Amino acid sequence: MNDGYDLHVHTCRSDGRLTPEAVVRRAADNGVRHLAITDHDTFSGLDAARASASGLVDLVPGIELSVTWARGTLHVVGLWVDPDNDALRVAVHDNDRERHTRAERIAGRLARSGLDGTLEGARAQTAPGAVPGRVHFARHLVERGAVGDVREAFKRFLRAGRPGAVASRWISLEAGVAAIRAAGGVAVLAHPLRYGLTATRLREATRAFREAGGEAVEVVCGGDGPGQRGSASALARRYGLAGSVGSDFHDPDQTWRDIGRLPPLPADITPVWSLRAEGEG
Ligand code: AMP
Ligand code: MN
Ligand code: MN
Ligand code: MN
Repeated sequence: MNDGYDLHVHTCRSDGRLTPEAVVRRAADNGVRHLAITDHDTFSGLDAARASASGLVDLVPGIELSVTWARGTLHVVGLWVDPDNDALRVAVHDNDRERHTRAERIAGRLARSGLDGTLEGARAQTAPGAVPGRVHFARHLVERGAVGDVREAFKRFLRAGRPGAVASRWISLEAGVAAIRAAGGVAVLAHPLRYGLTATRLREATRAFREAGGEAVEVVCGGDGPGQRGSASALARRYGLAGSVGSDFHDPDQTWRDIGRLPPLPADITPVWSLRAEGEG
């Protein structure tokens, strides 16, 4: 099982459903030995996760940064980062501020489509002190009966081109990767096959990521099949990137991407954890 690594997991501090404590427990129960908590644009779950991880799993400090590339959004996972690093704190702060104003813009757009009160509704789906993202709007739309499930909420209201879609002003790809590196971390291009990019654009994005200082790409992602793994492996080989493995776990009801339930990296792909020198943190 990939030497016990799962390097992409969410908690309720962003859009996951479980508390950091419950995520750590579930990881340990599932046989994970090295767990990265990678909430969207926040470190607010890290202390609680670290406290409960002691003796159970090796907790890798991580984050999933939203970044802008060519007017679209990419996700960059930072692993083994120092959350107190100033450059990374600035990057996280800028994205967090964008998340707050973006939630208001989403609610404004939905109101114009006749859906009032969605900001309050999304907040009710969000952990105290956390900021509502699109998943919280989706859960609210399900709860009020506007849609049948979260997938439908994205499809009808939240995806690009839909009534609740907004242009997001994240930090740039270059700034995100630089901040992760400044914080001593390894930058990983997350779930490359989930951006809806053409093969050509995906290669351009991967090249830009590597030129910015990115060192790995997620080759094994929760819920992906052999076809997607093959395409992601080809990107790793083509651009000389290491491979990461991550379930992108959010929700215990979504068992197809449970923590630690991941096929192995192809044998010729360098595991991202081998980029960490022996004995480091
Ligand atoms: P945000 O960062 O607020 O724009 O939300 C992005 C998150 O929404 C992703 O990390 C996923 O958790 C979730 N997501 C994106 N697309 C979909 C979809 N089509 N169906 C369900 N969840 C999605
Ligand atoms: Mn998410
Ligand atoms: Mn993502
Ligand atoms: Mn994720």
